[in-house]
Amino acid sequence: MSGTFLGMPSFPRAAREAVRDERLRRNLRHATHTIRDKRARAVAELDDWAELREAGKRIKDRTLRHLDTYLLELEERVTAAGGTVHWAEDAAEANRIVTGLVRATGEREVVKVKSMATQEIELNEALEEAGIRAYETDLAELIVQLGEDRPSHILVPAIHRNRTEIRDIFRAEMGRWGRPAPDGLTDEPAELAEAARLHLREKFLRARVGISGANFMVAETGTLVVVESEGNGRMCLTLPETLISVVGIEKVVPTWRDLEVFLQTLPRSSTAERMNPYTSTWTGTADGDGPDAFHLVLLDNGRTRALADETGRQALRCIRCSACLNVCPVYERAGGHAYGSVYPGPIGAVLTPQLRGTTSEIDASLPYASSLCGACYEVCPVAIDIPEVLVRLREEVAGRGGKGHRLEKAAMKAAGWVLDHPGALAAGERIAGAAGRLLPERLPGPGARQWTDHRDLPDLPAEPFRDWWRKNRP
Ligand code: SF4
Repeated sequence: MSGTFLGMPSFPRAAREAVRDERLRRNLRHATHTIRDKRARAVAELDDWAELREAGKRIKDRTLRHLDTYLLELEERVTAAGGTVHWAEDAAEANRIVTGLVRATGEREVVKVKSMATQEIELNEALEEAGIRAYETDLAELIVQLGEDRPSHILVPAIHRNRTEIRDIFRAEMGRWGRPAPDGLTDEPAELAEAARLHLREKFLRARVGISGANFMVAETGTLVVVESEGNGRMCLTLPETLISVVGIEKVVPTWRDLEVFLQTLPRSSTAERMNPYTSTWTGTADGDGPDAFHLVLLDNGRTRALADETGRQALRCIRCSACLNVCPVYERAGGHAYGSVYPGPIGAVLTPQLRGTTSEIDASLPYASSLCGACYEVCPVAIDIPEVLVRLREEVAGRGGKGHRLEKAAMKAAGWVLDHPGALAAGERIAGAAGRLLPERLPGPGARQWTDHRDLPDLPAEPFRDWWRKNRP
């Protein structure tokens, strides 16, 4: 069982703890800089990268505009191919459906792969409550599960661990979950991979139920697509008798032609590969080939609410490549856990508050987990303008005037009144100019003081611009 994000403190509080952890910062810096440099080289190889990026953006926007049509088409095709489609409005409904489906098979164990959506709904916890044990099979997710940890990166959920820590987790925990780590296991990557392979193979061969997510769903044929690097996905998708896929509704693309664009941009943006090592596709069921039963659980869980927001909906274009995390100066220092969600980094800061709303302390703090430097937008293969969405969400949070925003709201209200009354504005400018030297360098009050602790107040000119203009205009 991995740790849950429930009850996480706000981003600034969690980040304050994280930045004190020198080992975490060293691990993150090394990993993110390595991936980002490789990505930059892989992207630079393509002359038409800008066109691919624009095409990906347009395909996703068009699909989101007609999402209902494509989802119904997908349902029809999956059903015609022998699968069963379930619709889940929220996490509780999705968990109920999946738990019921596993129970109906009589099994008490499942293997899992590629399933951020199931982490989002905390499916493992729901299964455990129902007496069903879920085994993560992605190497990084296995490390997170064995360490009773939480994922901290979209693509490399155990990015905060170095190989010595992984060796220690394998030695201490593998035996509790199945085949123990080999005697004398070192922290050599090949040995760690072999230990994971032996441990997981046992699970693959025994499991009768597999649970997956999907990177894409192709509406025109009802095909699901999983893109991964280890081959564990293929084992999970083909060996069990029953396959249950839990997928967010925004993952649909209309045609294979559309998919072609993302199969070029995703590998280069995520792992800096020219082509993805294991791309598995499946359509319903087939006699004597793969699972006998296939269930697709289409998950909303806040996505239609995000879709209704004209600025915020662009976050649903995300193909989870993680490029924005690897260039983000805030993520690099704070790490993924501080975001209190399975979606960390810049995309998490805009996606989580839209999926969960901005009423909790942690969700209201996420839109501020950014310097608005724009590096995330520059690298995003589907051109999500994350800073634009962050500002939109900040407006929503500040507009409510909740904790930490009352002063800001009152100041904006007062500024609005002054700007509406030119006489008052001119008088205010003169008074401020005359009193300029007497003004303090730091503003009073906890909120305002925090602001001026790290920023200089600009010097006020002795003469307001309007007066200067009156005297000097030609
Ligand atoms: S927002 Fe863009 S860069 Fe970030 S994970 Fe999603 S697709 Fe990748």
